[in-house]
Amino acid sequence: MTETKIYKKLGSFKNINLDNLNFNSETERIKKIFDDNTFITKLSDYEKKIILDVKEELFLKKNSTFKLNNYVIEEIKTIPDDKLLLYLFHRYRYEIHPEKNILDEYPPYLQIEPSSICNYRCVFCFESDKSFTNKKSGFMGTMNLDLFKSIIDKAVGNIEFLSLASRGEPLVSKSINDMLRYTEGKFLNLKLNTNASLLNEEKIHAILSGGVKTLVFSADAADEKLYSELRVNGNLKTVLKNIELFNDIKEKKYPNSKIITRVSGVKVNDKQDFKEMNSFWSKLVNQVAFVDYNPWENVYNNKPNEITTPCSDLWRRMFIWWDGKVNPCDTDYKSQLSIGNVKNFDLKELWNSKKYNDYREKHLKKERSKISPCKGCVVT
Ligand code: SF4
Repeated sequence: MTETKIYKKLGSFKNINLDNLNFNSETERIKKIFDDNTFITKLSDYEKKIILDVKEELFLKKNSTFKLNNYVIEEIKTIPDDKLLLYLFHRYRYEIHPEKNILDEYPPYLQIEPSSICNYRCVFCFESDKSFTNKKSGFMGTMNLDLFKSIIDKAVGNIEFLSLASRGEPLVSKSINDMLRYTEGKFLNLKLNTNASLLNEEKIHAILSGGVKTLVFSADAADEKLYSELRVNGNLKTVLKNIELFNDIKEKKYPNSKIITRVSGVKVNDKQDFKEMNSFWSKLVNQVAFVDYNPWENVYNNKPNEITTPCSDLWRRMFIWWDGKVNPCDTDYKSQLSIGNVKNFDLKELWNSKKYNDYREKHLKKERSKISPCKGCVVT
């Protein structure tokens, strides 16, 4: 019997084009900040406790599990001195606590879905499942601005790592420009994922004047034929034109913007070559990456697999769909595991709810096979 291939959620980058980065200057800066007590004394007791663990992991321990890898260093470069410890506190909670099954008051990462609708039907995406995209399914829709604002208000000061994206294309939402502007100056690490096909001048201005720190353009190939094969309904020329427009506006109107741009592709077949990807896209963006494919198909019909390692995402991320429904992951894209609705509870209550904790407990007791769809899922 062949063993089930596990999909490790943390570190799902298969390739990234940042091998030659100089770490030294940032490491020196971090050291200085740790040595200068003025920053540590401003933290709460809990933040201080975690930050001392970070210090030990980064500078004292020999076989440390917490390492600042290349794309993290790129993020750190954009963080001012007075926010750096806070960034490291949240980064540590995001990377290490879920691996140790340590539960925090708030989720280390929040994903908010402005839209579950997408104009693409990528071969590796839930959007290719007609029982999901069918208008009558009830799964399709876009978030209204008031709901979005209320979620952001609940997250500010409690959660610093967020993505505006999940199952659909965020730029489909009619309110996306106002949503983006509402995030201005609120988070240390806000990511927006888009296929770039719907970018226009207005949206580009909203992205650059809002709170987005990393803008991820999803693309998996360097030529039109392969791109269209994978990104069904997509057109590489349109995407290129839009990214060029983004760069042009950024350069002319926002010369001091620190936004990081990345092209990120899903590696699904051998025709995709990282070298080709990198030489094609690196002229247009700061980073180029491939992530591993999480085989989600049949997740609801799969027989229970033999995986008994707990799913780390139960301690890492919380998802909020367009209609306010809260879910522990997007592999369960039809929300069988839904925890409740953000309209009725605050984020802390949802994250620490009985239902969520029951899932965690079952995973810890090696009983993920008792939960659907965890039983057929390969995420750990
Ligand atoms: S379905 Fe279960 S095991 Fe899979 S990602 Fe979601 S919570 Fe984790």
